[in-house]
Amino acid sequence: MVSLEGKNALIIGVANERSIAWGIARQLHEAGCKLGFTYVGDALEKRVRPLAESVGSTFIEPCDAGDDAQIEAVFGKWQKTFGTMDIFVHAVAFADRNDLKGRFYETSRKGFNLAMDISVFSLIAMAKHAVPLMKEKGGSILTLTYYGAEKAVKGYNVMGVAKSALESSVRYLAADLGPDNIRVNAISAGPIKTLAASGIGDFRMMLKHHAKVAPLQRNVTPEDIGKAALYLCSELGSGVTGEIMHVDSGYNAVSIPPEKEGSEG
Ligand code: NAD
Repeated sequence: MVSLEGKNALIIGVANERSIAWGIARQLHEAGCKLGFTYVGDALEKRVRPLAESVGSTFIEPCDAGDDAQIEAVFGKWQKTFGTMDIFVHAVAFADRNDLKGRFYETSRKGFNLAMDISVFSLIAMAKHAVPLMKEKGGSILTLTYYGAEKAVKGYNVMGVAKSALESSVRYLAADLGPDNIRVNAISAGPIKTLAASGIGDFRMMLKHHAKVAPLQRNVTPEDIGKAALYLCSELGSGVTGEIMHVDSGYNAVSIPPEKEGSEG
């Protein structure tokens, strides 16, 4: 088992126990990593605080990814509390529900900018504050993306465009920060039933389709994503940066899957 004893990680994007970020937090915690969390709004604080406390965390701060002052405050407090940062996990995305329902060409300027601001620019804005905390010892930055960045996926609309920009940002950040020994990667997760996923129309159909087509013939879990995150954020992934790692039961690798035994042609 890889050890993260003596390391710390700021995790942005836990909403509840079903969050992918919580799956990641649990794996990092089991490896001995000290954790800090953020939340948006009082309702989510009630969910996040007990989860954070269950893994021994006392760093639980408000942070709206669209608010520069709040971002600055969180990283400032981190510096005062821990001095340096080893791992930063960005598991944040947001789009107006209406922009995920209709025809893609009807996306509004406001909705487009909102999705790009919260789901893409926030990674860059937060990386800017993480870098000075990681520079001395090196570090690892991780974000979450989805296959809708690579192919048009029904119901994913403007979020697919945002995820393409996010994946590109991972490559540009990796190129920029490699000389500082800061690695930047993304996990492209298969669909998982979370709060954010509930905004995507016909998500149940998506889950069924993935489980049917993917080589492993099942959907992934937050634990699957957590284990891959542990690899990318620890010494195990020391040579990996700028990578978009699919953790999707192999869905992205196939087009027309082989017939299952017993099914008709
Ligand atoms: P989730 O709802 O549990 O997490 C999304 C998080 O984004 C929440 O904690 C929410 O508070 C946060 N967030 C939204 N707007 C914010 C803002 N303005 N400021 C700060 N935080 C904000 O859902 P999840 O599925 O675990 O999503 C985590 C990441 O994983 C997202 O980037 C999502 O796109 C990505 N992802 C999800 C799936 C899936 O099927 N669930 C698949 C691939 C990638």
